[in-house]
Amino acid sequence: MPSPISKLWKHDYHDIKMDLDRCLTAALAATGRQRPIPVFFRADDVAVPGKRFCKLVDLFSRYEVPLSMSVVPTWLTERRWKSIERLCNKNFKLWCFYQHGWRHMNHEPSGKKQEFGPARPIAEIEHDLVRGRDRLMSLMRDAFFPAFTPPWNRCSKAALTVLRASGCKAISRSQGAAPPALTGMPDFQVNVDLHTRKEQTAALGWKNLYAELASSIGDGFCGIMIHHQRMNENALTFLDGLLEKMLTLNAFCFYHLKNLTEDYHEA
Ligand SMILES: [Zn+2]
Repeated sequence: MPSPISKLWKHDYHDIKMDLDRCLTAALAATGRQRPIPVFFRADDVAVPGKRFCKLVDLFSRYEVPLSMSVVPTWLTERRWKSIERLCNKNFKLWCFYQHGWRHMNHEPSGKKQEFGPARPIAEIEHDLVRGRDRLMSLMRDAFFPAFTPPWNRCSKAALTVLRASGCKAISRSQGAAPPALTGMPDFQVNVDLHTRKEQTAALGWKNLYAELASSIGDGFCGIMIHHQRMNENALTFLDGLLEKMLTLNAFCFYHLKNLTEDYHEA
């Protein structure tokens, strides 16, 4: 099933570089910052090394910017992992591969979608979380990092408790996610959504996207969420422009989830 492309990416764009420059420069000036602002890019729903995924890896490789990849365990096979490894091999330090659910399936009978929500018994949650981690560990070996993003960015407190008990070192959800993160297992949240935007018009999509970018800079931490399956050429051009601009402004420092977690535990 093809993933829908958000309205703003269907619209042929005016001057991306000029608008990006204006947005980032103004937001940086407003912070009165003393040090570089941490930036964390997170690509969700990774497992199939198709054309769009290859373009994403190529882009981050070219700029040498780290990328965290949340991988759905049941979607990954030995063969797919070998292709991903080959593709990422040039500069393996750039990537952080970690767990994204078990099979990205909703189990809630009503309300918002969740794979590990309150509708499921804790034993079932534990079973799927642990076999997901074990599957990724056996396929990826040293390349696997024990962190977790719940599908749709939400899960129950029971799921968080199971994760922490099973050795998960960090999670990543959306800004303001509930329930709160548990002690010892920090939540590095995303606060900018590039590709799952639901605005009804392209103009509103752009307005809100730039507002999110500016506000993440104001917050002193940019967590930027990517869905490569929903990217078209316009979305790729924008991401290229964003990376280029962030690098030339020289006001940001780039991390993936493993670096962030290590810094957090050392601090
Ligand atoms: Zn997902």
